[in-house]
Amino acid sequence: MPLYEYYCPSCKREVSITQTISEHERGAICPSCGSRGLEQRLGTFFSKTSRKS
Ligand SMILES: [Zn+2]
Repeated sequence: MPLYEYYCPSCKREVSITQTISEHERGAICPSCGSRGLEQRLGTFFSKTSRKS
């Protein structure tokens, strides 16, 4: 399964989560705090449209 990088605003840290593609499409849950508000990190990509306030 692919490894996805996320940032958890609640924990204020980055987390790496192994997910299947279908799990990834449904979104990620922080393994530390259970938050669903994770922001995906795209490695070398810089996302221009994922800013949420
Ligand atoms: Zn968290």
